[in-house]
Amino acid sequence: MNQVSTRQLAEWLDTTLQTQRIKDYCPNGLQVEGRDTIRHIITGVTASQALLDAAVQRNADAIMVHHGWFWKNENPVLRGTKRRRIATALAHDLNVFGFHLPLDAHPELGNNAQLARRLGFEPDRNDDGTPVNFGPYDLVWRGRCEPCTLAELGRRVGSALGREPLVLGDANKLVSTVAWCTGGAQDMMEAAIDSGVDAYITGEASEPNFHLANETGTGFIAAGHHATERYGIQALGEAVAREFGIQVEFLDLDNPI
Ligand SMILES: [Zn+2]
Repeated sequence: MNQVSTRQLAEWLDTTLQTQRIKDYCPNGLQVEGRDTIRHIITGVTASQALLDAAVQRNADAIMVHHGWFWKNENPVLRGTKRRRIATALAHDLNVFGFHLPLDAHPELGNNAQLARRLGFEPDRNDDGTPVNFGPYDLVWRGRCEPCTLAELGRRVGSALGREPLVLGDANKLVSTVAWCTGGAQDMMEAAIDSGVDAYITGEASEPNFHLANETGTGFIAAGHHATERYGIQALGEAVAREFGIQVEFLDLDNPI
C-alpha cells in the first residue's frame, strides 16, 4: 500500500494551497502532529469528535478538514470538548490537517470553485484567467447562471445540494448574474449588492439579509454552511489521492446548519 511521510504531505499541501499567502484567523496546515507516515486519510468538513472517532475506528493516519482547531479569540485552555478532541488525536497518533480560507479561495480545488461547478455557475474571469473575486478577504466570486427566476434558482440549488435552501427576495425576479461565497458569509451580502449581481448565494443567513433582499432587489439564498462547504475538502482529498496514491475517504457527517 502506498504511503507518504507526514512532512512531505504537509509541504505539498502548503504549497498547493499557498497557505503562507493568506492571512487567516486560525493556523492552516498540520495543526496536530501524529504518526510520521500516512497511508489513509479521512476528510470531512469539520474536525468534530464524531469525525475523529470515525477516523480512529477506521485506523486512519490523519484527518483533513476545512474547519480545524485553534481559532483566534477562542478560549485557549484544554477543557471540555476541546480537551476530548485533542486527547483523541494524541492518544491515537492521528495527524490533524486544517485548511480554512486557503481552501475557500483556491481557484480550482476551493469551496467557491467547486460550488460553482455543482451549481452550474460560470465564474467571471480576469484577463489572466483567474476568477474575479472581491469583498472581505477577496472571498466573494461573481459570474453567470442560466437565466431563470429567483425561485427557480432556489430549486436548482436545492436539488444540486440535496437540501432545501432559504430564498429571500422577489421570487419572480429574473436572475442571470450571481455572486457567491460558501459558508458563513452572510455579512458579505452588501459587497455582492455593490457588485450589481441579481442574486447572492452563501451558506448561512442572518436577520438583516431579509431586509437587504427586499430593499435592494438582490435575491438572497442561504443554502447551508455545511452543504456549501462539502466540496472543497473532497476535491483536495482527490488531489492528494492522485498525487500520492494513498487512500483518502470523505465522510459527510451531516450538519443541518
Ligand atoms: Zn465554514
